[in-house]
Amino acid sequence: CGIVGYYTFNLRRDLRFVLDCLFNGLKRLEYRGYDSAGIAFDVVDAYPLAQHHKDGQEVISEENGVLESTGPLIIKEVGKVDALERMTHDIVARDQLDLGREFRSQVGIAHTRWATHGPPSAVNSHPIASDPEGQFVVVHNGIITNYNLLKAFLIKHGETFSTETDTEVIPKLCKFVYDRLSEKVPFPKLVMEVLKKLEGAYAVLVKSTHYPGELVACKRGSPMILGIKEEPGARRASFSRLHDAADTKWRNEAIECFIASDASAVIEHTKRVIVLEDNDVLHLCGGGYGIYNTGGENVEEAVPRVLLTL
Ligand code: GLU
Repeated sequence: CGIVGYYTFNLRRDLRFVLDCLFNGLKRLEYRGYDSAGIAFDVVDAYPLAQHHKDGQEVISEENGVLESTGPLIIKEVGKVDALERMTHDIVARDQLDLGREFRSQVGIAHTRWATHGPPSAVNSHPIASDPEGQFVVVHNGIITNYNLLKAFLIKHGETFSTETDTEVIPKLCKFVYDRLSEKVPFPKLVMEVLKKLEGAYAVLVKSTHYPGELVACKRGSPMILGIKEEPGARRASFSRLHDAADTKWRNEAIECFIASDASAVIEHTKRVIVLEDNDVLHLCGGGYGIYNTGGENVEEAVPRVLLTL
């Protein structure tokens, strides 16, 4: 029902800030109605907590500032966004204390669900993962009308499903395609392969442990908006061709991206938005973003989309 995504090129973002962006966004979408809510985010960077100061001196250990990717943390529950927010902060506070680290994050996705397939329950809430490791994690608005066929196909190939949703075929198909690649392809390219199989309406965000620090968004029939917040003088960082995140040698720390199914979740951060069109695939990685359209002939070439000022 409602989708919110946050992406920053700045690796120094406090996790709490990322969580606030996601939860504030979800709250702005509450008016649309929902039965459950969920959130997934990476902890990309963990710094020593202030408590780790010893006798007034900061204890400098070898791991100070070391990049640690823990895989996605997924928290979801039936009921109100407020309750989910409290639960998330409790879990994060406990984990930070246990580890004696202060978390940073670069990317998070969040969802309010209005169940269409599978009753409201914590398990059926989004984000929905491909597997227990969360190799591919998805939030989805809409309905995949041919999910029964896709589910039967995946079950035949040994997959077991843990939710009753139509949505679960999306992360499962991502993993299915990924596992069978002869060589790694850019993240949006992988998602495009999956989109070819889907029928129905969707707005989807996908993140993956195989593509850390990247986010893919796509839509057909359901709305999706990208808000771009730039500090003055920031170098515009859009890509002209689909490419591998590893090729990006620089990152533009002055840009933040807010993705949502509804502009009301974006405008508190920025008035500069791109309204994605049907069959658009948005890729956020490293130093910038690219938008590709799967309806066209050359899907690898970025399509020009107008940056509007609301
Ligand atoms: N069809 C999906 C489900 O039932 C998504 C529903 C929605 O748009 O919230 O889980």
